[in-house]
Amino acid sequence: MSQFIQRWSDICSTLAASHTRLLAVSKYTSDIAVQTLLNAGQVDFAESRPQNLRDRAIKFPHAQWHFIGPLQKNKAKYIAQYACMWHSLADLETAQAVAKHMGDRTLPVLIQVNISGESQKQGVQPQALSELYAAVSSIKQFNIIGLMGMAAKNTDPAPAFRLLRGLRDDLQQKYGTISELCMGMSGDWEIAVQEGATMVRLGSALFESIEANQNSE
Ligand SMILES: *Cc1c(COP(=O)(O)O)cnc(C)c1O
Repeated sequence: MSQFIQRWSDICSTLAASHTRLLAVSKYTSDIAVQTLLNAGQVDFAESRPQNLRDRAIKFPHAQWHFIGPLQKNKAKYIAQYACMWHSLADLETAQAVAKHMGDRTLPVLIQVNISGESQKQGVQPQALSELYAAVSSIKQFNIIGLMGMAAKNTDPAPAFRLLRGLRDDLQQKYGTISELCMGMSGDWEIAVQEGATMVRLGSALFESIEANQNSE
């Protein structure tokens, strides 16, 4: 087994113990790497640019394509057409723009919350979450299933993850429908899992050994 697939397989075993779903973030990787992982059994992939999501969803229709990046309204149709899940819903206008292109389809969505305290980071501020939740709930094309967040680099990520979990718990208590917690990337996913992540988004941790792998095959 190649080093790349071995690494993926090890991560899958760790995540299986906590029933955490792995999203393979393929934004920096080649089509060959995507195909290799798909062949190995990985189903969920994520892209952070709308055009890349569209292109890869067309190339790899048997994978599930999750959208995790910032979105401008003029690219809303790509998400409406090709995403299996939208993790980075963070404002009402963009949500309405996506909904307009949905037709009869319903899309599971997560609201991205800015849990890092950094103003340049994506996501709704925690204090504005319940208002956005209420507004998005009334859009019939969306099914809000959870929250997504990113911790700041170079600090202990646990408090940010706990904040997101607390916000999810509050909404769950009020409305009962939201359960997903998408948090944790290559540098902090193990902590995210400890703090209750139901999905993690891994790019470099999965794909960094792929170059060596391709050369050896
Ligand atoms: C790129 C990206 C990731 C994956 O980052 P790694 O550190 O390479 O695992 C996760 N989430 C989002 C929103 C991203 O843009």
